[in-house]
Order: sequence, then structure tokens, then C-alpha cells
Amino acid sequence: MSDFHCNRCSGTKCSDGKPCVAMSNPPVQNKYWDKVMAVTCQRCWAEWKDMEVKIINEYRLNMLEREHRQMLKKFMTDFLDLEGTGKTVDGPGAVAENWTPGS
Ligand SMILES: [Zn+2]
Repeated sequence: MSDFHCNRCSGTKCSDGKPCVAMSNPPVQNKYWDKVMAVTCQRCWAEWKDMEVKIINEYRLNMLEREHRQMLKKFMTDFLDLEGTGKTVDGPGAVAENWTPGS
């Protein structure tokens, strides 16, 4: 797995100096998650799972609401840099900055 490249780590090594390891268990098996897995290492995924809980609590997100799900997805895209922009966000506060209802 030495050629695995994680977008959030922007390379093949995590910030702790260890090689990035690809995620092994996607939440859902489909094309979207294949894409997420291809650019996200296990360590970043674990960080995201922690962050996801913080965001849901902080913004009182209701996963039955489409807009709330979109907001979470947008933040996940930014957090893990799924689009490979080279920019990542870190705190729940960045959600409000980067997100407007309906976008
Ligand atoms: Zn990573």
C-alpha cells in the first residue's frame, strides 16, 4: 500500500510519519464510497468519525432532514478534501463559514 495517497494528508504519509493505510470497510458499498475510500486513509477516517459526532451535536443535525444531511456531506468533503483541492478544514466552526442553506 506504499503508493496509497490520502488527500487530507496530502501524501502517502500521515502527520505522525507513518505510511497512510487505505480504509478497509466503507459504510456503504457504492461508487461514492469507493471514491471516498480511494483518497482517505484509515487515520483520517477515524478523525472524521470523531468530527462527525461533534458536528451533529454542535449543529443539532437531524439526519432525517435532507438539508442537514447535505451539510454533513459538504463538511465531510471539505474535511477529507475529497475533491483534492489541497485545502482542508478542521473544526466544526468551519461548517458555518463554508455552508449556506440550499447550496
Ligand atoms: Zn490521511
